[in-house]
Amino acid sequence: MGRDCHKGINSNSADTTHKEVYLRRGTKYVLEGLTCASCASKIQKALREIAEVKAELNFASSTLIVDAPNIKIEHKVIEKIREIEPSLNIKKMKKNEEENEYGDSQRVLKKILLAGVFFLIGLIIQNLLYANAELKFYSLSFWLILLPYITAYLIAGYDILTKAIKGMIKRDYFSENLLMSIATIGAFVIKEFPEAVGVMLFFKVGEYLENKALSHSRRSIKNLLRIKANYANLQKNNKIIKVPPEEVKVGDTILIMPGERIPLDGVVIQGETTVDTSALTGESIPRLLKPGDNALSGMVNSNAVITVRVTQPFEESTVNKILNLVEKAAAQKAPTEKFITKFSKVYTPVVVSAALLIAILPPLLYQIPVLMPLFSHTETYSEWVYRALVFLVIACPCALVISIPVGFFGGIGAAAKRGILFKGSNYLEAFRSIHTMVFDKTGTLTEGSFRVVDVKPYNGFSSEELLRFAALAESLSNHPIAKSIVNAYRNRIDKHKIKHYEEIPSYGVRAVLEGKEILAGNDRILHMDGYNIEHDTCKVEGTVVHVAIDGRYAGFIVLADRIREDAKETIISLKREGIKRMVMLTGDGREAAEPVARELGIEEFHAELLPQHKIELVKKLEREINRKKDKIAFVGDGINDAPVLMASDIGIAMGGLGSDAAIEAADVVLMKDKLSALLDAMHISRRTKGIVFENITMALTIKGIFIIFGAIGIATMWEAVFADVGVAILAILNSTRILRDYQES
Ligand code: ADP
Ligand code: MG
Repeated sequence: MGRDCHKGINSNSADTTHKEVYLRRGTKYVLEGLTCASCASKIQKALREIAEVKAELNFASSTLIVDAPNIKIEHKVIEKIREIEPSLNIKKMKKNEEENEYGDSQRVLKKILLAGVFFLIGLIIQNLLYANAELKFYSLSFWLILLPYITAYLIAGYDILTKAIKGMIKRDYFSENLLMSIATIGAFVIKEFPEAVGVMLFFKVGEYLENKALSHSRRSIKNLLRIKANYANLQKNNKIIKVPPEEVKVGDTILIMPGERIPLDGVVIQGETTVDTSALTGESIPRLLKPGDNALSGMVNSNAVITVRVTQPFEESTVNKILNLVEKAAAQKAPTEKFITKFSKVYTPVVVSAALLIAILPPLLYQIPVLMPLFSHTETYSEWVYRALVFLVIACPCALVISIPVGFFGGIGAAAKRGILFKGSNYLEAFRSIHTMVFDKTGTLTEGSFRVVDVKPYNGFSSEELLRFAALAESLSNHPIAKSIVNAYRNRIDKHKIKHYEEIPSYGVRAVLEGKEILAGNDRILHMDGYNIEHDTCKVEGTVVHVAIDGRYAGFIVLADRIREDAKETIISLKREGIKRMVMLTGDGREAAEPVARELGIEEFHAELLPQHKIELVKKLEREINRKKDKIAFVGDGINDAPVLMASDIGIAMGGLGSDAAIEAADVVLMKDKLSALLDAMHISRRTKGIVFENITMALTIKGIFIIFGAIGIATMWEAVFADVGVAILAILNSTRILRDYQES
């Protein structure tokens, strides 16, 4: 099909709505002792109900950001949390402070040791002094044995008991605290003292170890993200002072010495140096910075002093945005996580009911004469009660619930280390299910840096005139086409000459200068509302920019782009990785699009699209896949495709470094300007899902085994509590594997 000259198309710029606004301000708190994901979601839910307050709780980093209109309401928020989780140690953080979880764990360790000593004393008295004594309520031996046990029990279990009572008042009958309390008190009642104390003690040890393991994995994620500079060298009254980056204002001048990290975003005004961007992009390609270039926070200055004028407050800096994204990402729950939370809401009551049945039914059935032979005579009532108590211990879902967010957080951290920012666990989980991948052409599959290859003037204009007017008109545009025309012109451009300027997305630009109206863009702009500029140059190979001056056609400029170096390879690998359908979309002409698609082996392409057409096409493709299991992803450079990025299941922006629009609009940001990052993202998504799956299977299998063992009386309470704690710790350790795998890039 040949390309027709269009007639009268309305320019309709697609609206850009913001998907989500991230909390950047607000007070940050550390919640020490937040080890249980279900408690975290309880708090989050309660906070959502307080009006006027925006609060973000991040389980993975155990931090809370509160944005309240005044301090009174902020205190109310904290009070509310204390009410829900009285055992938490809530600490306000100073602006630059890093969280530390030591204080709390030291205290817990001391308690455990002290309880352990009393437990030992109890064991010695019971087994050495009164080895054969009958435990009668009125005997001295009974009380001598019981006293050290009770002491140990209360030291270890005080927190858990009080939490259980508070939970009960709030009708939360299935918290792990209540389960553990009933199980251990039950054990006391049936005179299994060592069991009662031991289980409580080891539950506490488990909590302690989980806490340790969790804070270890939190720390390793933070280490991965050590991209924030601690200070800025602020130039003030001819002096240099070191200040926290947060205190530097827009317009201030800062110095960055060799070896230092750039603390804030700005423009280089003096000095020339190379910088290492690896912390941001996961790729250590040195970049040259000279006066006029943008210096982004997080880059490391390699060899010479540069002076930078700050253009963004710290809150808006690249580094802060990335840190916020990663921190926030873990709070966006993946479907698997939601499923397990729901599952545990069913699991716990079911197992508790089973416990009740075990305690009550067999002794009742035992009374029925026909059933009597089924029971061995050695089983007493208290034996069945004991089995029921084992069930209560197994009913605790904590290991199951903790293992999932920890797994996803590992994946998000690993990806961030490679310069891939996932805005939520849900996108990380969905990435591996991408069925259709839609690519933008310019700047995504191609480099987006055009070369002018031909200038063809018409109607008496000269080549120089044509290029000059085009360059002047384009000088305010950020579009890659515009930039390359300006580059090709080479002479100085006086932007003050432009009296009126208007960029019409997917059409081109309209400018008024030197008393003339200039149109520069594709064929469409020549035929938009109110214009109908005659020309007979409809079919030209490559990307074409037509120019009209005061309503007269002045000629066209032909540009050539290059396909990205790693594009072909990546497309082939993606197909091998299971992407079923690939589609290329472009606002560029058919003549420019076809060779690119052919070269890359993308069978399907659509050209001459306006942004809204791109959305329509993505929606249409969406209808053609199985929405339950398959996902559609759009990969763009974020410069002019923000609306499509937002419209697709997974919007992926490439080369996010320095492009705010892309970071805002996309769900996944590839900081390095390389298509192959898509493959990395795919692998990390697979690997994370694998680890989460391992964690779930492990937890469920072990729980299942212990349910059976508990019912037939093989498992003791000791083993049940070891199993639960063990699973939780294994899951945490398993999740840190992914971080280690991707540590080196
Ligand atoms: P893509 O879909 O390939 O990213 P765009 O939607 O950015 O392309 O632009 C589509 C077409 O609109 C371009 O190929 C070009 O013809 C025209 N265009 C857009 N902006 C400009 C501009 N500033 N100057 C000239 N032409 C432009
Ligand atoms: Mg584009």
